[in-house]
Amino acid sequence: MRSLKELTRPNIWALKPYSSARDEYSGADASVFLDANENPYNTPNNRYPDPLQRELKSLLAPLKGVKEENIFLGNGSDEAIDLIFRAFCQPGVDNVVAIEPTYGMYKVCAEVNDVEYRPMLLDVYYQMKASALLSAIDEYTKVMFVCSPNNPTGNSMCRKEIDSLLKRFDGLVVVDEAYIDFSDLPSLLADLDKYPNLIVLQTFSKAWGNAAIRLGMAFASPEIIAIFNKIKYPYNVNRLTQEEAIKCLQQPEKVQAWVNTLLEERARVMEEIVKLPCCIRVFPTDANFFLAKVYEATQIYDYLVSEGIIVRNRTNVALCSDCLRITIGTKEENDALLEALSKIEIE
Ligand SMILES: *Cc1c(COP(=O)(O)O)cnc(C)c1O
Repeated sequence: MRSLKELTRPNIWALKPYSSARDEYSGADASVFLDANENPYNTPNNRYPDPLQRELKSLLAPLKGVKEENIFLGNGSDEAIDLIFRAFCQPGVDNVVAIEPTYGMYKVCAEVNDVEYRPMLLDVYYQMKASALLSAIDEYTKVMFVCSPNNPTGNSMCRKEIDSLLKRFDGLVVVDEAYIDFSDLPSLLADLDKYPNLIVLQTFSKAWGNAAIRLGMAFASPEIIAIFNKIKYPYNVNRLTQEEAIKCLQQPEKVQAWVNTLLEERARVMEEIVKLPCCIRVFPTDANFFLAKVYEATQIYDYLVSEGIIVRNRTNVALCSDCLRITIGTKEENDALLEALSKIEIE
């Protein structure tokens, strides 16, 4: 790996961060806080939240098997993705490489930050080859994005290929594990100490059932996390979000029950949908959604909309022509989908 200094934008490496009142005094002993120009009334929302979300991280760390210094929390994973560009990629100079098709935010963030985005097509099994991604790099390639389980294809990338990438690429490798809770495969978090160039992204938005609170996690070496903390907005995770996440972490068994139900439903829906005349095939998945190849995806999409059922039409995405991405809902919602699809006649 190139040194973190070589990978970081020079202005970011040299940056002295804004120091908030809560940064300068963060002890718990004081009882009179006259340092942050807060209103003394309207407890508890009158006070600025903990800028480093310490209580939340103290609950997350044991659950994830990492140290608190390995955790960055942001306004969704999307904040972490944006910070990766802002910290490491020099606009107009550096580039990033990503699998294709994949989650759309990597490309949008690259474009917002004026960073060249190099998509590398997966094979026909939606698998990636480390050698294919490595063939796209040059000295200005700072980051690679791998999403596993991948959105919109649903499958996990081959672990051997991810390991190969982490060993052979001398820049940063981001592995987006937004759907890892639905997979039987182990998270890369267990190897965080082994790979100093690894950044793992996870989120409260999917299995954790908290898309509305906007809380994403990035796990990496303490040195990388320190760079994120240096450039983030001082109070990037608000108090209501921190509180709600703490409540959520105190009942992980609830999340496991949701996951179990969704996995059962996923098996049932996939089994039923392939029997329908409109469906050509379904693709293997490790997520709470699956990709279905159908006859005339756009017509079926429009028909489902007219029935009040919204799926994601992925027909214009590379390798996904005539594919619909279908999220697993409640049993009733899934039945409504199957019922509507069963009425389609294919001549
Ligand atoms: C849904 C999703 C996310 C979640 O993003 P948040 O900003 O945390 O809601 C991240 N990555 C992928 C691949 C996703 O599909």
